[in-house]
Amino acid sequence: MSEPEKAESEKGEMQWHIILWYIHLYALGLYGAYLLLFYTSWMTVFFTLLIIYIGGLGVTIGAHRLWAHQTYETVWYVRLFLVITHTLAGVGPIYEWVLAHRIHHKYYGTEKDPFNPNKGFLHCHLIANAMTKPPNYEQTVKAIDMRDIHLDGYVWFQNKFYWPLFLIIGILLPINAPAEYWGESIVNSVLVLGFFRFAVLSNMTWLIHSGTLIWGLKPHEKYPPDDNIVFLINKSYWLNYHYLLPWDWKCSEYGSYDRGWATNTIKILNIIGLVNRMKTASSESIRDALFKASTSKKPLNEIMDEVKEIASVEADKINLHYHH
Ligand SMILES: [Zn+2]
Repeated sequence: MSEPEKAESEKGEMQWHIILWYIHLYALGLYGAYLLLFYTSWMTVFFTLLIIYIGGLGVTIGAHRLWAHQTYETVWYVRLFLVITHTLAGVGPIYEWVLAHRIHHKYYGTEKDPFNPNKGFLHCHLIANAMTKPPNYEQTVKAIDMRDIHLDGYVWFQNKFYWPLFLIIGILLPINAPAEYWGESIVNSVLVLGFFRFAVLSNMTWLIHSGTLIWGLKPHEKYPPDDNIVFLINKSYWLNYHYLLPWDWKCSEYGSYDRGWATNTIKILNIIGLVNRMKTASSESIRDALFKASTSKKPLNEIMDEVKEIASVEADKINLHYHH
């Protein structure tokens, strides 16, 4: 087999029925948005926004910040809540997403990266989600540490019973509620709470992988030094810093740091004592890391491991302080 053919055989194949579903999702989702604006009751508007907000939490502070990166710890009933709200988002099991996301972080911008930014926004955002697993996927998976996820009963349960759970929590309950409790028409309910909600939440989830192509200065590089230096000094503006500090709970999925609805929700959960051991990079440790990077020959990402160590110790100290 020649080299190009070999490279081709290592790619997944496009699943056209999924692309067809996405076309329907966008078209009917847009129609749902129109109905939401002009033809539904205020209760339906409020309920739709609530469902999108909590479904978004399942994806951002759940699958991404809690399960994929372990940026904080939380009590069992918040974990359960996040599994339920993630199921509402209708974006497949947490297990599969975390695995793909960890592969994306480890192999960023290479052929093994399922969301390779070098292939452009459309691939990264949409098409990548409709591809079959490449033949060498098993091999790639072996290099990913998933021990923490294998030990998580909530993720296991959701993965095992995903389709019945999705049918009840993701489809029947939210679509039935407006028709059953405040007299919304069933057509409005299906188009707004069904198609519009899934369109918004799917795009929010896909943006986690395609976001650097919108907000990054140099999205094709994993650790672009100028992007990251701007962030490390200013701690503002989305750049590629999430790939440098994936364990930082303040790293937002949508272009901000230490702000935004998901980050603020974690802050509230922390204030009421439900979230703790939140790892974040302190300004001093970043200043020290920059000094080390400029005086030693070590790469910046290696030096950032030391920043992570400091962040973990600080998170533990705050937790001890909180309990005494
Ligand atoms: Zn991430």
